[in-house]
This record gives sequence, structure tokens and C-alpha cells, in this order.
Amino acid sequence: MKTEFSLAQLADPDIAEADKILRACVHCGFCTATCPTYVLLGDELDSPRGRIYLIREMLEKDRPPTEEVVKHIDRCLSCLACMTTCPSGVNYMHLVDQARVRIERDYTRPLAERALRAVLALVLPRPGLFRAGMVLARLGRPLAALLPASKTSSATPTLLRRIKAMLAALLPESKGPSKGGSVSPTLSRRLKAMLTLAPGRLPTKGPAAGSVFPAIGEKRGRVALLQGCAQQVLAPRINQAAINLLTRHGIEVVLVKDEQCCGALTHHLGRDGDALARARANVTAWLGEAKRDGLDAILVTTSGCGTVIKDYGYMLREDRDFASAAATVSGLAKDITEYIGGIDLKPVRPQPSDLVIAYHSACSLQHGQKITQAPKELLSKSGFVVKDVPESHLCCGSAGTYNILQPDIANKLRDRKVANIAMVKPDMIAAGNIGCMVQIAGGTSVPVVHTIELLDWATGGPRPGLN
Ligand code: SF4
Ligand code: SF4
Repeated sequence: MKTEFSLAQLADPDIAEADKILRACVHCGFCTATCPTYVLLGDELDSPRGRIYLIREMLEKDRPPTEEVVKHIDRCLSCLACMTTCPSGVNYMHLVDQARVRIERDYTRPLAERALRAVLALVLPRPGLFRAGMVLARLGRPLAALLPASKTSSATPTLLRRIKAMLAALLPESKGPSKGGSVSPTLSRRLKAMLTLAPGRLPTKGPAAGSVFPAIGEKRGRVALLQGCAQQVLAPRINQAAINLLTRHGIEVVLVKDEQCCGALTHHLGRDGDALARARANVTAWLGEAKRDGLDAILVTTSGCGTVIKDYGYMLREDRDFASAAATVSGLAKDITEYIGGIDLKPVRPQPSDLVIAYHSACSLQHGQKITQAPKELLSKSGFVVKDVPESHLCCGSAGTYNILQPDIANKLRDRKVANIAMVKPDMIAAGNIGCMVQIAGGTSVPVVHTIELLDWATGGPRPGLN
């Protein structure tokens, strides 16, 4: 693709990087076929190629994003299916990340939208606040029935006005001219999505940061396990299964004390100041641990987090104090299945040859990290009948905060995913990302479990899906 950045613009390393990415695109359009939003909406501007044109226009003209740009970038799931499909190696991830930062910096969203994003950025990365938020959401779940499910349904105006007023009170003053119209779904539908996603009950807390779990028997390795933020509140059983399996196979596990949220959630909201601060804090914490007692790897059980941690080296490339350390951390980061693939697993129970597992390949794992076979091979070797899900390249609609911010598209994608899963008639659904697990569980009664829970079960742990 031809670009026309000035020399002054190209002096900015971000623009130089965007220029390189844009020039790689030959606008062949192959990526449109696998883009979930294009498949659903059929609008070129909701395809990767269309978004690439919009981003080029915005960056070249160096002007604030228009409503049209914001609408179509906001609708992008960052699922990265386009990167898997693209024959020219266009790094759409780094391009859209940059566009989101530009939007966050230069576009003034409507008041309620800013409030909602501020609340999400504040609450989601902090397990204590998130837990409190989940308790409130659980109490508020009956209200979900009062809120409209579609654009045409009527809301409860008095309630909505009150909620909007409450949120407005949380907001800082606007920095620029406010846009008149909203380019996104209404607040009522987003509130409904949030309330619907809240679990019926919260499990008890998992082990505290700083805990060390010694290897059982001969010690063969030592790893840090990312504690996560939403996952440790919603499903601490996942990391518990990872700890059980690893220690059982001679691997010592540490939950590093000063670790924070990986920054993925705020990164995808375009709040790079927050995301980069978290990345720096984690780099310091993990490399400090590695220096003290050694680390073979930093393991991640939530693939959305893993994709971002593996990108720390790129995200901090311009930071002289952190670039090299961040690249080291990215090299140490591994999805749990990647690491376990190098261990000789010891299944202990009778092989459940009749238990059919539908394997949902999370976008962040298959497109973001290019890990497609390892989880399925591990499950098969452990005795499960593993079935691929039709249209497995299409996102389930979770995508971080997407199912809250874009509930209409997210629900359509979830329903499509659940229908595809039902075609393989599974006894259980396995996935490697808590966001996908919550999203898919919202549309099916088939138990949704983490891949590591099944592997733990196969090697002596409890049967998953029963709590
Ligand atoms: S497939 Fe790649 S090169 Fe072709 S239009 Fe899409 S991003 Fe551009
Ligand atoms: S990241 Fe996903 S939703 Fe966004 S343009 Fe690429 S394929 Fe489409």
C-alpha cells in the first residue's frame, strides 16, 4: 500500500512502524473472508483491509479520529484472524493497537461511554475491586431483565437516567469538544451485558501472591505462574489445576509477589500509559525473582494475557531502561500448554475414551501466539476424544471487554460459536482463556473447562466441571 507520510512524521518511531506495516499490505482482501465483523456485517469498513485504509488516512492526515474511524476500530475484536490469513505478513495487531491509543488520546467520546471505559479500566485489572464489582453485579442481576436486549427495545428511562447521572459524577471534566452522537451501543445494553456476565456465585480466593509450591519428588524446574486479575476472581481453580499438575511433575511454582495485571485490558482500551506501567512493574518483579531463585519460564493460563506479555519486548522497545529486560521477559513467557508439551505427562486414571471434548481455540492462542496443535495433542495423549469446532478461526465474541462494549456483535458471535460447538456433540468444552470460557458458558449448558483442568484430571487431579 502506498503511503505519504512526511519526513517529519516518519521521525516518530510509531509512525515509522505504522508506515512499514501499511506498506506491507497489498490490499488483496484475503483477510476479509476470515474477519468475524466482516462475515457478520458485510461492510468493507468492518474488514481488516477497510480498517487499514481508515488508519492510514487518520495517521497520514495527522488529525483527530472521526466518528467513522472510531466506530469501525471499536468494532474490531483484535482477534487477529486477519494476521493468520494475510499472505503478506501485515502486522495488523501493532497497527490497530496504535490506532486505539490515538483514539483514546485525541477523540472525546460521549460522556456515558467515557464513564464506562473509565470504570472498566479501573476495576478489571484490580482483583479486589473486580471481586467487589462482581458481588454488586450479582445483586443487580435481576435488573438485567428490565434492560433492553436490542436497539429497538424500550429501556427503563428513569433507571437509565439515574445510572447515567451516577456515572457522570465519576468523570473528570472533558478535555475537548464532545461529540454529539454515540458511535456505539447504548449504555443500557452494555449494562445488561455486564450484569449477564456476572457469575451466580464467586469461588473462594486462591493462594496469595508470594506463595511458593515446591516440586513433588525430584525437582526438574522452576516457573512463575501469572496470577491474572479477572481469572483469579472468577476461576481460581484454573491456576490451582496448573499448580497441581506442575508440582506433581517435579516443577516448583511461584506466584511472584509484586506482579500486577499484565496490562492487556487497558492496552486494548488504548490506555497505553497504564498498560506500559504495568508491563514495567511486571518485568521488574519477574526478573527480580529470576535473579533471586531462578525461573525457567513465566507461565500463563489465560492466552489473552500471554499474547500481550509476549509482546512486552515490542511495547517497551523505545524505553532505554526496559527494552532489553522486556525482551527477556517476552522470551520467558509461555502458554501453559507450550511448557507442558515439553514435560512427559503421566496419566494415572483409566482412559475415558468415550468422553468427547470440543476444543475451542482461543483467538489469542491460535492467531496471537500461533499455538494450535499442542493443546489438542496433550488432550488426545491424555485419553480424551478431541473434536475441532467448525469455523474454529472465528472469535467467540469475548475479546477482553468487547462483550461489554459491543454486546450486539459479541452475542451474535457467541451464538454462532455455540451452534458450531453443538455440531460435534461434546460432553465438555475446553478452552485456554477465561474470557472465552465465560462467554461460551453464557450460551450453553455443556460444561466449559480449561484445558489444564482436564490435563490435571488425567494426571491425578479432581474431575473438572463439577463446581
Ligand atoms: S490479506 Fe494482508 S495484504 Fe491482503 S488486504 Fe488483508 S492485510 Fe492487506
Ligand atoms: S482483528 Fe479480527 S475483527 Fe479485527 S480486523 Fe482482524 S480479523 Fe477483523
